[in-house]
Amino acid sequence: MTVLQALGLVKSFGVIRALDGLELAVREGEVLALLGPTGAGKTTTLRTIAGLETPDEGRVILDGEDVTPLGARERDVAVVFERFNLLSTLSVRDNIAFPLRSPVYRQDEDEIERRVATAATDLRIDHLLDRNTDQLSGGERQRVAIARALVRRPRVFLLDEPLSALDLKLRESLQSELKRVHEAYGATVVYASHDFPSAAMLADRIALIENGRVVQVDTLSGLIADPSAATVGRLIGSPAMAQFAGHIADGQLHLDETEVAFSCDALGLETHPRGSVILGVWPEDLAICGADSTGSVPALVWATDFRGADRVIELHCGPHRLRKAVPRSMSVRQGERIHFAIRPERCFVYDAATGRRQDARS
Ligand code: ATP
Repeated sequence: MTVLQALGLVKSFGVIRALDGLELAVREGEVLALLGPTGAGKTTTLRTIAGLETPDEGRVILDGEDVTPLGARERDVAVVFERFNLLSTLSVRDNIAFPLRSPVYRQDEDEIERRVATAATDLRIDHLLDRNTDQLSGGERQRVAIARALVRRPRVFLLDEPLSALDLKLRESLQSELKRVHEAYGATVVYASHDFPSAAMLADRIALIENGRVVQVDTLSGLIADPSAATVGRLIGSPAMAQFAGHIADGQLHLDETEVAFSCDALGLETHPRGSVILGVWPEDLAICGADSTGSVPALVWATDFRGADRVIELHCGPHRLRKAVPRSMSVRQGERIHFAIRPERCFVYDAATGRRQDARS
């Protein structure tokens, strides 16, 4: 069942069009990640859904009701922003209880005490309840902000980059905590982030947003199997999709400034478009191979970065740049020349000008 819909949202700030016909449908109980680069319109989307911004056009529907004319306090949504604006004059306990003492959501003090205690336990901050919020670490403050949103039991939670200010270790522990809390409360969550790994870990579905529009919404595996636009490949994956500039001539797709070419038929191009294209392939589908393997592409190892259990290598091949994770144990050195193989049946072809998919594969 759809709980929340954004229909054709348009919002401009002066000459900047932050939202440009944004469409979104959030299902009951899901975590939907809004993933997009900086300036894509994620915060403006959340603020508009929350009633903190009025759209120039479009509507926000909550449980079938058009809430566009309603103010933030009249909407059953809670927002946790990156800067969590806790009240520094109040204790953690009173910060969490704060919404339940407001005239809109007022509860009696016994109920407030019960809800604060439960949320504090769920977020493992019971021991901090009597502290002032200015005596807390960033991660602790974040937990308090989430607890404060939880006690209201709103219809929808909106989380704006809630983890980005935290270091990697804290972020990972809060991610699993958020997942557990989500399961316990069965809440519907919209989670805005530019961080692919946390979106991938938390979200049931991911809505990719760019230039104030949703480009594609699907599960992560759906996006990987069927990335509808070149921008989808750039936004997801760790590393992201390898994308090669190319052009089509005589029924073949040639990678620019290389000898590498694939037949349009092998790439699933039913019609043979002309002109510039982008050949996309997930790095996991690029195999490091020997120089004598058929179709092998030579490349220079430009950089290697250790990353936990694996290693990411950056390969340069003429004007093309790509990044790929390889096992830590693999012997590959910076400055070395290696070869990789591209399997045309694992590739996606996009129009270079519009970014739209050209191949007929799904
Ligand atoms: P980030 O990941 O950097 O937070 P975002 O995807 O959340 O980015 P928004 O904050 O929604 O993006 O901003 C979308 C666009 O609207 C940006 O170009 C931003 O500069 C602009 N913008 C947002 N709020 C305002 C405002 N109050 N006044 C002027 N411009 C704004």
